[in-house]
Amino acid sequence: MTFATDGLAYGVPEHGQRVLDVLERAGFEAWVVGGWVRDALRGAPSHDVDVTTSAHWEQTARTLRAAGIEVHETGIAHGTVTAVVSGEPVEVTTFRTEGVYSDHRHPDDVRFVTDVREDLRRRDFTVNAMAYHPERGLLDLFGGADDLNRRVIRAVGVPSERFEEDALRVLRAVRFAARMGFVVERATHEALIAAAPDLAHIASERIGQELDGIVRSGHAAWALEAEPEVMCAAIPELAAMRGFDQQSPWHIYDVYEHTVHVCRACEEFTVGMATDELRWAALLHDVAKPVTFEADENGRGHFFGHPKVGAQMCSTIMRRLALPKTYVQRASTLIRLHDHMVYPTPRSIRRSLLKLERACPGDARSLIFQLIDLKRSDAVSKVPSAAHYAVELDALSAAVRRELSAQPPLRVSELAVSGADLIEEANLTPGPELGQVLDELLRCVVNGELPNRRDDLIEKARSLA
Ligand code: ATP
Ligand code: MG
Repeated sequence: MTFATDGLAYGVPEHGQRVLDVLERAGFEAWVVGGWVRDALRGAPSHDVDVTTSAHWEQTARTLRAAGIEVHETGIAHGTVTAVVSGEPVEVTTFRTEGVYSDHRHPDDVRFVTDVREDLRRRDFTVNAMAYHPERGLLDLFGGADDLNRRVIRAVGVPSERFEEDALRVLRAVRFAARMGFVVERATHEALIAAAPDLAHIASERIGQELDGIVRSGHAAWALEAEPEVMCAAIPELAAMRGFDQQSPWHIYDVYEHTVHVCRACEEFTVGMATDELRWAALLHDVAKPVTFEADENGRGHFFGHPKVGAQMCSTIMRRLALPKTYVQRASTLIRLHDHMVYPTPRSIRRSLLKLERACPGDARSLIFQLIDLKRSDAVSKVPSAAHYAVELDALSAAVRRELSAQPPLRVSELAVSGADLIEEANLTPGPELGQVLDELLRCVVNGELPNRRDDLIEKARSLA
């Protein structure tokens, strides 16, 4: 076995150490494994502790419980139980290998084994296939520590075989590389391309989890550029964007390349702090361009309605990937409004805020800045002469800040009158009509036709009633 004790940025936390100690004192072998070892070696924030052990899960549960540790049987079919020590969970799994994968996603059977090395061999990438024990040191059979230093993702074993077994690993490779800012090693990359079509066998919610990890890493631009086959297999709608000539004097890039630039610009403008919905919106903002394309008599391309159709496609895609509803709603709203003109006037700003608030209740004040970031990123990703719009958007940003500091009402509940006031003072009766009057009052205030003052609002309500 190859051992080295040095190189970890921090030690095993107490809760993990306790699980190791209890198991080893009972005569079993136990190691910390996977993500914790990877992140401790690269000095990243500490990951949850996962333990792998020679004990069968029933022995693990019995031994830990006898030592007073709470144990939950969270995945016994795969040999996994979860111990809870001082409120911290530790997943403990029996050393195992996996049988044949006849469906590209689940092993036909799981076999428990006695040698930790066999367990490490079934793991996906070298950087994820290291085990560590505070006394025995690092067990790194496949050069995972070297690969961390070289910043590469490399499959354990023969890459094509590993991706054929489980096609989800194709996306996992891209996710780990994106998250850590690594690249995919050449042979692994070639196998990724060959196996990408097998993603069709994988449940879409599992694809959604991995893709969301890629998007949230802030490195979607890298993933699109470096691993286009994988990204297009994961989101088939992206494939139509590749090489799609916009036939427009406003664009020097095809739709796919333009998208790469927009994703990258979003990170640059936000210094890597883009919200996740903005990241999804950047990725999919022009997804409807291929389906809405029309060439006019001069051969110039137009994409009428692409923001609206794109917003619908974004919803379809993100829902198919089982991503949360409000998340989907925010991303698709940004896409729907990405070409909507906002002028640096109070009226235009407030009307835009109202649109955002209606689509995403409670989010307008944050979404307006995300919308500006999306527009700014879009502007610098076309022809160079279109980039000046980014400067106008800076002025818009400042105007939005001023406008928001005046705390404009964006919903009926923020008006200076309530429904009850109108019933009392304007002779209205409870029911749908009351709601319509309140909506109209809000519209008038947002348009600057009325101040948000009780007396003015009541008077207007009387005239409406
Ligand atoms: P994170 O949870 O931060 O994304 P992780 O390394 O903990 O990273 P998990 O998906 O939680 O990743 O899996 C834990 C470990 O199990 C991995 O480090 C890897 O060794 C192994 N593993 C997980 N999924 C697979 C898979 N599909 N094929 C092979 N090994 C896998
Ligand atoms: Mg994990």
